[in-house]
Amino acid sequence: MESKEIRKRFLAFFEKKQHEIVASAPMVIQNDPTLMFTNAGMNQFKDFFLGNAEPSSNRIADTQKCLRVSGKHNDLEEVGMDTYHHTMFEMLGNWSFGDYFKKEAIQWAWELLTVEFELPADRMYASVFGGDEADGLEMDQEAYDFWAAIIPEDRIINGSKKDNFWEMGDTGPCGPCSEIHIDLRSDEEVAQTPGKDLVNMDHPQVVEVWNLVFMQFNRLSNGSLQNLPAQHVDTGMGFERLAMAVQGKQSNYDTDVFTPLINFLADAANVKYGEDEKADIALRVIADHVRAISFAIADGQLPSNNKAGYVIRRILRRAVRYGYTFLDFKAPFIHTLVPLLAEQFDGVFPELIAQKDFITKVIMEEESSFLRTLDKGLSKLEVITAEVKKGTKIIDGKTVFELYDTYGFPFDLTSLIARENNLSVDEEGFKKEMEIQKNRSKKAAETSAGDWVELKPIEEVQFLGYESLASKAQIVKYQAI
Ligand code: ATP
Ligand code: MG
Ligand code: MG
Ligand code: MG
Repeated sequence: MESKEIRKRFLAFFEKKQHEIVASAPMVIQNDPTLMFTNAGMNQFKDFFLGNAEPSSNRIADTQKCLRVSGKHNDLEEVGMDTYHHTMFEMLGNWSFGDYFKKEAIQWAWELLTVEFELPADRMYASVFGGDEADGLEMDQEAYDFWAAIIPEDRIINGSKKDNFWEMGDTGPCGPCSEIHIDLRSDEEVAQTPGKDLVNMDHPQVVEVWNLVFMQFNRLSNGSLQNLPAQHVDTGMGFERLAMAVQGKQSNYDTDVFTPLINFLADAANVKYGEDEKADIALRVIADHVRAISFAIADGQLPSNNKAGYVIRRILRRAVRYGYTFLDFKAPFIHTLVPLLAEQFDGVFPELIAQKDFITKVIMEEESSFLRTLDKGLSKLEVITAEVKKGTKIIDGKTVFELYDTYGFPFDLTSLIARENNLSVDEEGFKKEMEIQKNRSKKAAETSAGDWVELKPIEEVQFLGYESLASKAQIVKYQAI
């Protein structure tokens, strides 16, 4: 089943269950000091949960463009290394605002996965909230019982507060959640290690696909919990992970969401995906990052030197570095993926097709200016290696960090060049400098730690278009200078 069909069926399934299908909110959140990017489907519905606004329907479903590269949800460093975390991904979701609750949410999720998508019931696990002493909460027996009516009890897992209790922040609506995990390993592997032991263990083929949150409490500022006057359901399922399961693949990158991009890249680099680990990581990084960057630009967020723009710039630079280092992309290349990407989302997220040329141009300019910086860094490194050769034969941590920070040289690249010159690098010293910088940026990011965002009513945040393309182009030109 093609991924387009999977998305369609998800929405059709919930439409049949009287859900109103709404559009994704923009991925880039404008004018909000608490959150830069949408990181979950529920962001745009916050006011409904808080009772500040009324939804047009008490049942809603959609697919939401999400980006998890900052604040509470930051998966950036995982991306490319593993096969199931992305920067930009689609979160499929269904919501009940004071309407149905645990029973329907659980039954429908199960029906969708096992009947509509025919996923193997005996490869799935459900986790429920196991209780928390500090909060005086018992385990979520209700959810447990609904699951026990569907699956054998040895496939129900009692989860911790960390994995199975969802909170918007220090205060506000919250509640237990129930996650569905699927084991996609071969029969032989399953016979060796039970899937249950691998749930929540970061196993690439035993992954969480769906999170069902049951909002039933309100946390007060004194830390205590109060029952909410109405109970709500908030669910989120990773579209790319669902596609992996439905298409019987072992990696999100083997689904048709990613294969066109991976193949195009591998051809250009003259490599085969699956043959060399470093090249594979680079292929995954670029295939992933081009999506994040393109959707951000389509939402009006250009790469720049501050805030959201800087996050986007760093994502693009990470992609350029991987391409430069491991695929030998020495000239701008990533922008050539944009038409392919835009075509893939035709009829789903039309903003990519509509702005294909503009997105291509922005990425190309950004790529070429960063590649020039990389070249400058290489010249600097030449001088450094010449000096170090005469002395300690070790490039010190501070210098390695400076190359990383100012010239975008990943540690790998510097150590590779060092090795070619029979030198070594001070890895410990480099790590120390990284730690110092991490603490610095942690401090800077502390304001955006929550899931919930101060959003204006939904009509007002809907993306309405740009002032004019010409003015954007000017900004790009200005940045390139
Ligand atoms: P994980 O534990 O795998 O990091 P999560 O618990 O952080 O996932 P949730 O916040 O519960 O994820 O989001 C709901 C769903 O969105 C997850 O069940 C998963 O299918 C999907 N998802 C979460 N993060 C990512 C990501 N970085 N890339 C792709 N899909 C994701
Ligand atoms: Mg996560
Ligand atoms: Mg999880
Ligand atoms: Mg989860």
